Amino acid sequence: MPPSASANEHRAHENRAGQTTLPVSDILVHVRKSFLRGILLLIAAAIMLAVPACTGQAQQQPPPAPSPGPPNPQAPAPPPQAPAQETPKQPAAPATPSRTLNVVVLDPGHGGTDAGARGGNGVIESEVVLSYARALRAELERQGLRVVVTRQGNENPTPDERSALANRQRGSVFLSLHISSTGPPGTARAYTLPEGVGPPARSGPLPWDQAQEAYAERSRRLAELLQVQLAQKFRGSPEVPAHAAVRQLRTIAAPAVAVEVSSVSALKREQLEQMGTRLAEAVARAVTAYRPLYEAGAN
Ligand SMILES: [Zn+2]
Repeated sequence: MPPSASANEHRAHENRAGQTTLPVSDILVHVRKSFLRGILLLIAAAIMLAVPACTGQAQQQPPPAPSPGPPNPQAPAPPPQAPAQETPKQPAAPATPSRTLNVVVLDPGHGGTDAGARGGNGVIESEVVLSYARALRAELERQGLRVVVTRQGNENPTPDERSALANRQRGSVFLSLHISSTGPPGTARAYTLPEGVGPPARSGPLPWDQAQEAYAERSRRLAELLQVQLAQKFRGSPEVPAHAAVRQLRTIAAPAVAVEVSSVSALKREQLEQMGTRLAEAVARAVTAYRPLYEAGAN
C-alpha cells in the first residue's frame, strides 16, 4: 500500500520544522492542522468506498488489477506463485509445443569410447558423422533454421541426455546421423521407429521411453520427404523409408528420423565425407518441404 497523503504531509512538516526556526507554538498549530486535515481525508475516502458498494456498481466493476507500472527496484520481489517445479522423472514432451518449425536437432551418433561402425580401412563412424553434422548445420542455417547438435566433438552423451537436449527445443525436428557397416555403397536411408510396437496406449502423458509414439505419423511424413530427396542425391537408394528400432528415437518428443549412409566397409573416409554435401542438400530440401506440413498441423 502506498503511504497515505497525511503521512507524507506529516513527514513534510517534520522536515520543514527541522529546517526552520519557527516558535514551538507555531509548530504545534501546524501539526494540529495537518492532523485534522488527515482525519478529514480519511473520512472522505471511507465515504467514497462505501457508496458504490451500496449501489451495486461495485459488483459490476472488476477488482483493480495489480498495477503494471514500471518495476520498483526497491520493492521486494513478489513471492513465487507456485513452488519450484519438480523435474519430472519421465518428461515426455515439451511443455508448450510450437506451431512453427524453426529448429533442427542434429544427432551425430556414437562418440567417445563408442566409435560406432568401423571399416577395415580405418573409417570410424563416430568421426564421419561429425563431419556430416557440420555440413548439415551450415546448409540448414543458410535456410534460416536454427541448429542444435547433441555433440560437437568426441564426447558421448547418453541417449537420454541427447533426448533431454532435443526435447527442450520448441518447434523442432530431430535427425540422428549414422553410417552402416554394410549395404550398397554410396546410398542413404531414412528410418523411423516401427509403429505400434510399444506398450498399449494409456491415458495421461506418455512416459519418457514412449515419447516418440505420439509423433509416429509426423516422423513418417518427414522420413518420406527425406527419402525422396536421398533417392535423388544418392543413386540406388530406396524410394521409401523403412522402420528400425533405433534406441535414440524412442525418447524424442518431436518428429524424429535416423539417417544412415552406406557404408564404412565399402568406402574410404574421403568418399564418405564427400557425401556430406549432398546429404546436407537433401536434408535441407526435405525439412523445407516438411515445414508447411508441420506448421499446418496436418502431419
Ligand atoms: Zn550408428
